Amino acid sequence: MSSSGTSSTPDHPSETPLAPTGAPAAELTLAVALAQDLIRCRSVTPEEGGALALIDQRLAEAGFATHRLTFSAPDTPDVENLYARYGREAPFLLFAGHTDVVPPGDEARWRHDPFGGAIEEGLIFGRGASDMKGGVAAMVAAALEFIKANPNFPGSVGFLLTGDEEGPAVNGTVRLLEWVNDERGDKFDQCILAEPTNPNVLGEMIKIGRRGSLSGRVVLSGKPGHVAYPHLADNPIQHLPALIAALKEVPLDEGTAHFAPSNLEFTTIDTGNPSANVIPAEVHVAFNIRFNDIWTPETLADEIRRRITAAGLGERARVTFRPTNATAFVTEPGPFVSVLSRAVEAETGLKPALSTSGGTSDARFIKDYCSVVEFGLVGQTMHQLDEHVATADIDALTAIFRRVLQDYFAPAR
Ligand SMILES: [Zn+2]
Repeated sequence: MSSSGTSSTPDHPSETPLAPTGAPAAELTLAVALAQDLIRCRSVTPEEGGALALIDQRLAEAGFATHRLTFSAPDTPDVENLYARYGREAPFLLFAGHTDVVPPGDEARWRHDPFGGAIEEGLIFGRGASDMKGGVAAMVAAALEFIKANPNFPGSVGFLLTGDEEGPAVNGTVRLLEWVNDERGDKFDQCILAEPTNPNVLGEMIKIGRRGSLSGRVVLSGKPGHVAYPHLADNPIQHLPALIAALKEVPLDEGTAHFAPSNLEFTTIDTGNPSANVIPAEVHVAFNIRFNDIWTPETLADEIRRRITAAGLGERARVTFRPTNATAFVTEPGPFVSVLSRAVEAETGLKPALSTSGGTSDARFIKDYCSVVEFGLVGQTMHQLDEHVATADIDALTAIFRRVLQDYFAPAR
């Protein structure tokens, strides 16, 4: 807004609107200011964009030992990462996340600059506001505030931040965890990953696990020929109903204590046949399975092969699976989940559901080192145009993490 009143032109979208004439400009909280600073870093995967440097500086100033690590591997971009620790003792509570973001898409279609961090009517706009610079800002601010108030708390707080979550996920969390474990010998006790877990309202949902993901392909072969002489050919397309029924008709399972039933979805069926008078030689069928903790990728692959054989398609079907690092896992509800649940309830008034729904996250790697749960902002607009979150949610999330830190290191008796 203009302070002179002579112009109705809005401010440049990347600027925080000024307060009306006479009133002091609203002070941003540490967390919201940090979220805004992070959004202004163009950290589209695999670019670091200044985001990790910014957090590195803030944590180092507060007494964290920080380590910036760049990992490389053939055929993938180099990725920068950050590991930081405050304290030397156990227990060790780790906060994890990513500062990279997906591309903004058509920037002209955004209401505000996707890398501007504009705040309008209580909402902060920008790529990563929800996924997950807002969450990163909240956990960093919470830790800084907690340490300022309790510099000698009994334990350690750490940060594991990557610039490669939205990309191939090769030179990020996986390598960083290996490095921390092998080179530093640091052992985490618990981890909170601040991915946006809430579907609509802050406080609705904690993720205590994730389903696994397995992609496969079946090539059904036949005998190619002329459509006018089908008796001389064997059309593989005619075997599709049997294949689909074999994979879909009987559910893979009925679900488990913390998981919905596993689900197979077909993603493409094609012959690549451009011709109108040729019976194709092969038909390719691809699918993806989101599976629960009954299965491993291996047992699931065996089950798919068994079903195809049982349907009489064994002779003509070639089945392959893509390598996967996404296995199903769950952190059983217990004291740690309760600490987080109580903090969420205290700050939002909502009793969060303990869920394993949704896609995969870096929690699938962290779970090999310590128990991990996920709680962050509202995910409604993640990866969309005009991505935004309420600044009040960033502040509430910060308060939740402060409570967690307080309760974790000085449990109320
Ligand atoms: Zn994310």
